[in-house]
Amino acid sequence: MSDPIRRSVGRPRFWERYPLDELSKAEWEALCDGCGKCCLNKLEDEDTGEVALTRVACRLFDDATCRCAQYDIRKQFVPECVVLTPKTLPDAAYWMPRTCAYRLLHEGKPLYDWHPLISGDPQSVHDAGVSAQHMTVPEFEVPEEDWEDHIIEEPT
Ligand code: SF4
Ligand code: SF4
Repeated sequence: MSDPIRRSVGRPRFWERYPLDELSKAEWEALCDGCGKCCLNKLEDEDTGEVALTRVACRLFDDATCRCAQYDIRKQFVPECVVLTPKTLPDAAYWMPRTCAYRLLHEGKPLYDWHPLISGDPQSVHDAGVSAQHMTVPEFEVPEEDWEDHIIEEPT
């Protein structure tokens, strides 16, 4: 499959050699593994601060491609959608999926072998079973009080 994200950019193995706030814009964008899991709704326990990921997807999420259907104008429809940057990442990392490349690097962990930057294949994130492809339900079909019935397991 063709990769919707430009990968052949930047310095060799930049994600291992430079801090996140020293990456170019293209390198930053290339870090996204295309899993789509940040577009799934989360539940946060007010007492413990624990975050659970559900398979209830944002209304703009396309579950076949794992992409936002209206990325450029998404804020008009979903004003709460967070734009991830080196500045916003520290506050957002705790609720990002555990396999998210930005969260992993923020926590000082390496990327997984299935990351397209390492595998050279955008399909590898889906083959590894860590993407949201073909496993979501749209949020307009599930009332918020039922989201906890759709919690998904994440790697620890
Ligand atoms: S969870 Fe992280 S790696 Fe996956 S699509 Fe979202 S930003 Fe990209
Ligand atoms: S608006 Fe688009 S990018 Fe933001 S959470 Fe929804 S599907 Fe994802």
